[in-house]
Amino acid sequence: MAQDIYPTAHFRPVVNKSAGIITPTRGLILHVQEGNGSPFGEFNNPATQKSSHLWLSKAGHFEQYVPFTMKAWAQKAGNTEWISCECEGRVGEDYTPIQSERLGELYAWGIRVFGWAAQVTDDPKGRGIGTHRMGGIAWGGHSCPGGLRAGRRQDILAAALGRQGTVDAAGNPSVGRFAGYPVLNKGDHDPGHTGSFPDRGNPVATLQNALNIVLRHEDHADPLRLGPDGQFGDRTYATLTSFQQWWGLATDGIAGPATWAGLDGALRLYGR
Ligand SMILES: [Zn+2]
Repeated sequence: MAQDIYPTAHFRPVVNKSAGIITPTRGLILHVQEGNGSPFGEFNNPATQKSSHLWLSKAGHFEQYVPFTMKAWAQKAGNTEWISCECEGRVGEDYTPIQSERLGELYAWGIRVFGWAAQVTDDPKGRGIGTHRMGGIAWGGHSCPGGLRAGRRQDILAAALGRQGTVDAAGNPSVGRFAGYPVLNKGDHDPGHTGSFPDRGNPVATLQNALNIVLRHEDHADPLRLGPDGQFGDRTYATLTSFQQWWGLATDGIAGPATWAGLDGALRLYGR
């Protein structure tokens, strides 16, 4: 059965759309709005020749402009096989926590309803969560949505896949490989440098390495990668709270037993 509308979206049909989308679609293309406020007026103006299926505000509300059974005009040649979502904000600005959560929910819905693949892709003929920029000239030659937001796709996928925590025999969260690790707070630092993972003697670096792995920021060129320098500073704090948000934990920025358990579960989810 064709699924036209995202259930939680406010449907506001626009004129900029056309027939001929090929289903099942290959996945979701995330765009950055480079601005704020609903683009309904722009997308309902024939002169702009632009639209998207969805728009997600910083406050976490979806508007839908084009039914999924039609082409939105978001990425030229890529309009035929991909669903598009415009996201409020600017290229150098990270998603708000609620935007990340909502994108995870949207992608989880797409996995169920459209059979979208649980992966990130940079191939215009691939499947998964893609970007506008991956289509190159044929898709309009844009850098959208920029490196920061493109780098968040694994986080969105992790949110889509949901909590995969593990429990011990007593039904409590199992900290698994991190049994015996201390509670870490911002300002903590390791006694030395670590050359291994995990390293009980250098728990901050272990935390940083774990966050890099589960949020898919291991690449040394990734601007979101943490050290690992063994210093629990602002960036480690911000990344830890992002992980806690996505894993459904209290976002207190403290690496306590529940967070260590969540990291162990997330590592297992990725087969690490
Ligand atoms: Zn775009």
